[in-house]
Amino acid sequence: KLSAQNLNISFGTKQVLKNVNVSFNENEITALIGPSGCGKSTLLRSFNRMHDLSPDANINGTIMLDDLNIYSKNIPVTEIRKRIGMVFQKANPFPKSIQENITYGLKINNLPHGKDVIEKALQEAYLWDEVKNDLKMPATRLSGGQQQRLCIARAVALRPEVILMDEPCSALDPVSTLKIEELIKHLKKKYTIAIVTHNMQQAQRVADKTIFMYLGEVMEEGPTDQIFNNPKNEITTNYINGYF
Ligand code: ATP
Ligand code: MG
Repeated sequence: KLSAQNLNISFGTKQVLKNVNVSFNENEITALIGPSGCGKSTLLRSFNRMHDLSPDANINGTIMLDDLNIYSKNIPVTEIRKRIGMVFQKANPFPKSIQENITYGLKINNLPHGKDVIEKALQEAYLWDEVKNDLKMPATRLSGGQQQRLCIARAVALRPEVILMDEPCSALDPVSTLKIEELIKHLKKKYTIAIVTHNMQQAQRVADKTIFMYLGEVMEEGPTDQIFNNPKNEITTNYINGYF
């Protein structure tokens, strides 16, 4: 289980997350929704220590992966990123072959990276049948939907505990989107999954739990059915009805 307690994040003088408390549970899909700029990506990136790269980022609070504090000084960021995978809005395969996209992270982590491992990761991301004869082809020649599934394969190859996805389908057509939704639902049997989405139908199709964020705060969270059919907060109601 991955959780944030009393998380505050500011960049310079601008506070972007305010006392955020969230948890993502095993074998569940959690959707993060909320208007543009409310802090969804900032939150997701904090779980992967991506703000380590921003000199003006100021992070307060605790982020725990089971009993590991991921901001502990003595834990290398490569270990965090092995255990917590991330998939982005724009598919970003390495400018390498399909198979090297899978083996790259495995090599860095000194993990086995033979043919069987490559096949298993691509199978798990519903991509194997489409690429098994083209493993040496540059990944950038794949379609957008295939590239995104390759990025998912690259993440699952490392046997992570958590997969975080930041609008993974928003650059894709409806058919590719549904395929990735099927994939995400299949992956939840093995992983803890959080997905940021602007697509309210998507949240309802895939998520067990939904968290609504507004101006850097968690406004409301609960079972997805409750958030969409019986929201308690007026701002949540307005948001899911499309007023902003
Ligand atoms: P969207 O739905 O448009 O992707 P979001 O909810 O993901 O929005 P964030 O990207 O988390 O929003 O941004 C939240 C706020 O934090 C924005 O006002 C953004 O400008 C600010 N912000 C994010 N990263 C930085 C940074 N490195 N330095 C300064 N401000 C930042
Ligand atoms: Mg974002």
